[in-house]
Formats: sequence, structure tokens, C-alpha cells
Amino acid sequence: MTKGLLKIMTIKKLLISIVISSLLFGCAFQAGITRLPQAPLYSQTVTFGTMQYVPFLRFCDYYGLDWDWDLVSQRIKVKRGNDTLVLRPDSNLALLNKKSIKLDYPIEYKDGAAYIPIRTAVFVSQQVFGLEEKPALIAKRHQIKTIVIDPGHGGKDSGAKGRYGTREKHVVLDIAKRLKRDLEKKGFRVLLTRQKDIAVPLYKRAAFANERGVDFFISIHANASRYSQARGFEVYYPSDATDDGARALAAAENASLKFEEGEITKGENLATKTTVWDMQLNENRRESKEMAYYICNITADSLGLKKRGVKGARFVVLKGAFMPAILVEVGFLTNRREESKLKNASFRERIAKAISRSISTYEREYERTNGFSK
Ligand SMILES: [Zn+2]
Repeated sequence: MTKGLLKIMTIKKLLISIVISSLLFGCAFQAGITRLPQAPLYSQTVTFGTMQYVPFLRFCDYYGLDWDWDLVSQRIKVKRGNDTLVLRPDSNLALLNKKSIKLDYPIEYKDGAAYIPIRTAVFVSQQVFGLEEKPALIAKRHQIKTIVIDPGHGGKDSGAKGRYGTREKHVVLDIAKRLKRDLEKKGFRVLLTRQKDIAVPLYKRAAFANERGVDFFISIHANASRYSQARGFEVYYPSDATDDGARALAAAENASLKFEEGEITKGENLATKTTVWDMQLNENRRESKEMAYYICNITADSLGLKKRGVKGARFVVLKGAFMPAILVEVGFLTNRREESKLKNASFRERIAKAISRSISTYEREYERTNGFSK
């Protein structure tokens, strides 16, 4: 049981609804399933203990369900039409359109990813959302072989500055190089948009990836805030829906544009490409968001950093990339403790290794579930 749920309803109400939902859903669920569906989704499963699971995000892709994971409150929202189901890892209680329902087996959170027990997947798809097996809905997902790492800023554009004089452009270039080394050891082909302290216009960074047929684009940045207490790790994917904080950050990161004298005309050309980008956006956004969630979870957990979560924002550098693309803010240079951590080479190595592990975990899951994610 969670504090969050208790805020929504009193214990008494909760108990009543548990009883009612057990009657309504529990029995129907038990009686409703005589055999498991033959849908390709269920042909490859993962076993933990004695239970069989499918990766939760594959489940959502398969049925075309819209999802959102709030890493801070640990709630997963699944949407279809007007229906919203809120789930929490390890909890039998779920909220369907703000009313509590009971799941026989909760979703579980392992190794930076969420998994849904097959029986719960059948229950949610058939009885909660009334969906049929629809193999045609299986989402396409790209295999990741070539990655472009984009160290933010460079040259005249230093990016964020720390109290002790640490510059974002140096920190992110160092992390990018370390990340490249680690990913190459794992067999990925990796390219950097800049290898030294030079200015690279934002539109050229995305174009660099587009011209090389790259599978994944990751831009590395360090954060800044007026509030010296602000700290933590966050990951962004390209989106039009954005909150004020994300909008402010995008404005700050996009400010690199002002250093790009003489590149303004070309920058405008990028704007005319936005229609193409909008079309590409939806297809790539799902994968970008999924990867963002892996990176945020695994990296913040393994380094003990505050998880600020996964957010959508309009970053110019991501907007031009016609492939899944994310932007990582590794920490706040304006926070004393985080600045001194980021000044430390072994900490930068650990960040690089954790991001690398997130990418390979994501890729491994792709291979494991190849049977239904293609
Ligand atoms: Zn930056």
C-alpha cells in the first residue's frame, strides 16, 4: 500500500473497494482465463521465479497503449481513449479511472525495466481495455548498431558554469569519450559530433547523424539552475508537449544558437524541415522515450543520484535528428556537491559506464523479445 493511494482515499473506502473490486474483477479474472492467448506477444517470455512475464513496454507497444512512467512517484500510467489505468510496481492495487481495482499479480520492476505477468497482461488487455489480440499492432523497433554521441556546446559556447569554474563543454566531452570507449567494447559503432573543444552548430549535430544512417542519437549535457540546491539526473526525449521547467531548459540549451553567427540562414532551413520532423516524431518518440526511461532508471539508481525523471521537451538538437534521440542532463554544475562529483574523473567514468549499460540492457531486451517486437 502506498502513501499516494492513501491520500486519494481513506482506509475505509479503500477496504470497501478492495472487497468490491475482488468480487467484480478478481473472480472474472480467474474464471475468464482458461488458456493463454496465442498472440506473438506471449510467444517469448521472461521467467522470474515461477512466473512468466513480458516486458511492460513491449506489452504497451503491442496493444498500442499510450504509457507514461513517473520515475519519482514510481507510477505507470497507461492510457487508451478515455480510460486511464495507474499501476505501481509490486502493488496489487491499481486505479482504473481513479477507482481502485485489484490485480492478482502485480507488475514487477527488475534490472531497470518493468515487467507485467502474463496473466495480468491478459487481464488488463482483455478485461480492463476490452482489446482483442491484434498482431498487426506490433510496433516496429530498430536494432541499435550505430550510435552518435553528441557532447553539448564547445568552443565559445561553454554551456553551464560551476562555482569552481567547471565548464559544461569539458565535462560532457569527457563523459562522451568514455561512453564511446565503453560502447565500442560492447560491439557498437560509435561516432562523436565533436572530438575537441570546438563549436558545432546545433543543426549540424543532427545532420551529422542523419547523413550516416545512425540508429540512435544521444546528446550529453550538464544542468544549471538559479537555485543552488537543484540537483539530480534527468533525461529528455523530443516532444511537443512540454512543461515550464522543460521549456526553460530547452531555451537555455538552445541558446547555443546565438553563438552560431553566420549559421542563422541554415538554421531557418531547419525550421522548414519541421513538417518532416513532425511525421518522424511519433515513430521515433516511443523509442526515444523508452530509451530515456532505461537510462534515467539505471544510471540514477546505480550512481545514487536524485532521479528527476524523464521529460519531453523541444530541443533543437533533438528536433533535427530523424532517429530515436535523447538528451541527458548528467547533473547540476550549479550545485556544489554535484560540481565536485563531476570534476572527478572516476565519477565521470561511472556515469559513462551506467549510460552504456542502460543502452546495452535496452538492446538485450530487444534481442530477447525479437519475436514480437519486429
Ligand atoms: Zn547544455
